[in-house]
Amino acid sequence: MLRSDDLLGIGMEADAVRKRLHPGNVVTYQIDRNINYTNICTEYCSFCAFYRPVGSPEGYIQPLESIFQKIEETIELGGTGVLMQGGLHPDLKIDYYEELLRSIKQRFPQIHLHCFSAPEVLNIAEVSGLPLGATIARLMDAGLDSIPGGGAEILDDEVRRRIARLKCTTEEWLLMHRVAHGLGMQTTATMMFGCGETLEQRMNHLELVRNLQEETGGFTAFIPWTFQRENTSLGRFVKEEATAVEYLQTLAISRIYLDNFENVQASWVTQGLKTCQMGLRFGGNDVGSIMIEENVVSAAGAHHRASEEELRRIIRDAGFVPKQRDTLYRTYFLN
Ligand code: SF4
Repeated sequence: MLRSDDLLGIGMEADAVRKRLHPGNVVTYQIDRNINYTNICTEYCSFCAFYRPVGSPEGYIQPLESIFQKIEETIELGGTGVLMQGGLHPDLKIDYYEELLRSIKQRFPQIHLHCFSAPEVLNIAEVSGLPLGATIARLMDAGLDSIPGGGAEILDDEVRRRIARLKCTTEEWLLMHRVAHGLGMQTTATMMFGCGETLEQRMNHLELVRNLQEETGGFTAFIPWTFQRENTSLGRFVKEEATAVEYLQTLAISRIYLDNFENVQASWVTQGLKTCQMGLRFGGNDVGSIMIEENVVSAAGAHHRASEEELRRIIRDAGFVPKQRDTLYRTYFLN
């Protein structure tokens, strides 16, 4: 299918899978905020325009007061959660993260904390000298509600060595999610494609997350997006970003192949609102969050913006009923 030119046929098949899993004609969106607690990172991933190395004058650790203020603004906009991520800081031990989570939960008990991708959790364990399971359990105790699927890029060690040499391996990424699921923590799975991988490597990625979902059932959603090349060193080698056709085809194939995932997200942040809207007929049943703040892909050239009303409009105009959801894709207590 990845080599086929029958884009519409593949889209229709994906649409049929979506309809089977979501018969109510509802497409969901969320209101949350991305907060980056630090941009200091030791990994130097070649696709990343966000991080600053240790010692950079542009490096920061976000003060707690400013994080609280961002959460207050999110709540005022009807937000239900925050997605908090950062670079892999070499000195911040687990007590920093526990204090961060606890102090947020104390002030905003209603806010869902979806934080720290697999590489960050592995880094916290390593810097703190703790086993992985104990690290996740302590973060959960401190208020962590779920873990985002970032840091997967393409789950193939040949690709990872090329684009993210220092970051966790395929096995480590999968292990973090397996251990988290075993502790009752739900997570998402992502894929950043179009970074020079082969179609086989892209397909192997889908197979690995499908297999882990079969084993644990702990993923709430699959979220594919495309590599954004601006301001990145990888962009010097990968001269062209994936097109809308390639995006829609990969989205549709993800929906067809990952039929053990309830939700597949269409991305407007990297694709823009119009392609995201078309993605709703290529298997997507969710459009992600309005973006109150986003610093990671915008640093790499994706500057799309959308309000709640705009997201509702593109969903309605594609023939669906828009519904706000929370981080765990629940809609019953909203709207
Ligand atoms: S992608 Fe994450 S781990 Fe890699 S350099 Fe950027 S912030 Fe660091």
